[in-house]
Amino acid sequence: MKDSAPNVVDCPICSREICFKRFTDAPYFPFCSRKCKLVDLGRWFNEEYSLDRELEVSDFEEPDFEDS
Ligand SMILES: [Zn+2]
Repeated sequence: MKDSAPNVVDCPICSREICFKRFTDAPYFPFCSRKCKLVDLGRWFNEEYSLDRELEVSDFEEPDFEDS
């Protein structure tokens, strides 16, 4: 691994090439910009929190335990 060889990665959001020699040169790694990083976060958020049904009151109640 050569010290002078820049690392090149493609931004996973917009596919733009990012060249950097050190990670400190790419604060939004592996994204090219803050915007792309936020886009990625938004995607994760949507996937994790998208619901396929309406929330019901019972979703917020403690489960009932039978008396032993
Ligand atoms: Zn990008």
